[in-house]
Amino acid sequence: MLTVGGKAPRKVCLEVVRLRQEIRLHDRKYYVEHAPQISDREYDKLYKRLKDLEVQYPSLVEPDSPTQRVSERPITGFRPIRHRVEMLSMDNAYSTADVEDFHTRVIKNLGRSRVSYYVEPKIDGLSISLTYEKERFVHGATRGDGVQGDDVTINLKTIRSIPLVLEPPQGVSLPAVMEVRGEVYMSREGFEEVNRERKERGEPLFANPRNAAAGSLKLLDPRLTAARPLGLMVHGVGALEGRAFETQQELLEFFQGVGFPVAPRALYCPSIREVIGRLREWTDERPPMNFEIDGLVIKVDNRKDQAKLGATSKSPRWMIAYKFPAERAGTRLIDIIVQVGRTGALTPVAILEPVHLSGTTVSRATLHNEDEIERLDVRIGDSVLVEKSGEIIPKIVKVIERKRRGDARRFAMPERCPACGAPARRASGEVARRCENSACQAQVKQRLVHFVRRKAMDVEGLGTKMIDTLVNKKLIHDVADLYALKYADLVVLERFAEKSAENLMRAIQESKERSLSRLLFGLGIRHVGERAAEVLASRFRNMGALMQASHEELTEVEEVGPVMAEAIVQFFGIPANRRVLEKLKQAGVNMAEKEFSKVEGPLSGKGFVLTGTLTSMARSDAEGLIHRLGGVTQLSVSKKTDFVVVGEKPGSKYQKALALGIQILREAEFQKLVGFKK
Ligand SMILES: [Zn+2]
Repeated sequence: MLTVGGKAPRKVCLEVVRLRQEIRLHDRKYYVEHAPQISDREYDKLYKRLKDLEVQYPSLVEPDSPTQRVSERPITGFRPIRHRVEMLSMDNAYSTADVEDFHTRVIKNLGRSRVSYYVEPKIDGLSISLTYEKERFVHGATRGDGVQGDDVTINLKTIRSIPLVLEPPQGVSLPAVMEVRGEVYMSREGFEEVNRERKERGEPLFANPRNAAAGSLKLLDPRLTAARPLGLMVHGVGALEGRAFETQQELLEFFQGVGFPVAPRALYCPSIREVIGRLREWTDERPPMNFEIDGLVIKVDNRKDQAKLGATSKSPRWMIAYKFPAERAGTRLIDIIVQVGRTGALTPVAILEPVHLSGTTVSRATLHNEDEIERLDVRIGDSVLVEKSGEIIPKIVKVIERKRRGDARRFAMPERCPACGAPARRASGEVARRCENSACQAQVKQRLVHFVRRKAMDVEGLGTKMIDTLVNKKLIHDVADLYALKYADLVVLERFAEKSAENLMRAIQESKERSLSRLLFGLGIRHVGERAAEVLASRFRNMGALMQASHEELTEVEEVGPVMAEAIVQFFGIPANRRVLEKLKQAGVNMAEKEFSKVEGPLSGKGFVLTGTLTSMARSDAEGLIHRLGGVTQLSVSKKTDFVVVGEKPGSKYQKALALGIQILREAEFQKLVGFKK
């Protein structure tokens, strides 16, 4: 029988320890300090090396290894967890007068006239409590009713900014136990991205980043949570044993020192006067931040004073949340323009008379689609109420009808694409009209923007302005033309210095090596998001196999539904798309999943076909195990197949295996072969 493992030599143990330290350091640099020191590729190399060693020597795997962040097993529910120290909610203040009243109560209760405060941005996220015993992250829970919450440890671990192991600087001691309190949030960018993907898949959109973060943390499949762009900011402590902190400021500095992210721009205020000044400043104009804040939290800085002040049954007496005023404003809608997306979808956008709204100037608002225009009954020239819902994309809440002028004009969506003039039709059951010309310049630009994105082919230095120029100058007609660009083409363009032309050429060259899943995602097939691209790549292994896959074969893949399968078949059925793929291939763009095929392991060179349902693990997990041990998974049974793994209700592949005399593995035998333990 084949086995994996055995006792690891000392040299390997040391390397594993070193790799983990290094990965932790780079996680911190990237996710907490936002100052990466190495490239994604170098990081991936370290990660892969660690993963390989752990596969080879499973006894070395530890729960807080960086490789163990994403559990590959969905769970059935969240068990309750009791907070050691209750998680209270905060009192709110809606004006500076409310804050002054708060201060009056504080000085009265403390019996003195001077109190210093610490003011922090209030992140609009989901409150959580993370328990650490010494340096180890033990578990984490949602706030729940304040007394007990849901144990969401498995999902929290997928958030890379949550340290699994704390690394204090020299001379800094860790508490024996501490409950770190903070907010899990989704960045604005991440939120827009998640909603864009949901829109493409026809799923309901999240109303705001807070809901998106909450929804993501409550998913039962941690692999899905891992794909959501979640972050953490910590701001306080619950239970604390074996260490004391004098002030809130000292506490936050400690957090930062041991590797937690804390909100930027927190400020020590020696008196209430500075606090009020700060509130005014932020109400007028908020500093740019990549996440939602809905106010400022004002805390008595001295922790002994905090303890003295204590709490009411509901909330602490030593802090208050100042909420920014409502973020709505009236303005006039000057015009409605139509934008063309990469799938050809036409989106109406309202052009507004610029209006000051929650610290920024707003001059555009999305109108989503023609149904929305009808629902609002909005006309050009109308006075409208604009809201920056969750500070994200401004939208029009309603029309102020009593202010409607006689010359207000109704708007109709164009029947032709505003960019290329091709017919724009609305298919039944769809909300959007689409430009039907796939060579439409507006579409090509958007497709290219998507193709070069960081999560797709990651071509550094190719921004939207440059893409505009390249498409307008007819240097690029489809994404594959990117690889036909020559240095000479670029240097003659206005925006280009020699140096940046060189850099761009290099970035384009480098992007040829991206994984199959990134390429697939980059192609922008409808309904195929980042996660789906990964699943498809690991299942089909190369572009050719995917292109030939039938609707039926596609729906056999877990996580691929009939709508996505249809979109994939349709995409590859279009001759223009096939031509683009051929061009990409000719240009030397990687078209196959390499990651696993190079793994040397006990199953190297062995071909596997899976059929039927496995009871102990998901099919993708079984495939993962095979790949990690060096084996290859195949879609159909042939003479090249070494094993057919047979689960419950096997299909025709089982019959074929019998006919060809190929070795059959029942689930238990397969488990043994790959060393699977529950
Ligand atoms: Zn068009």
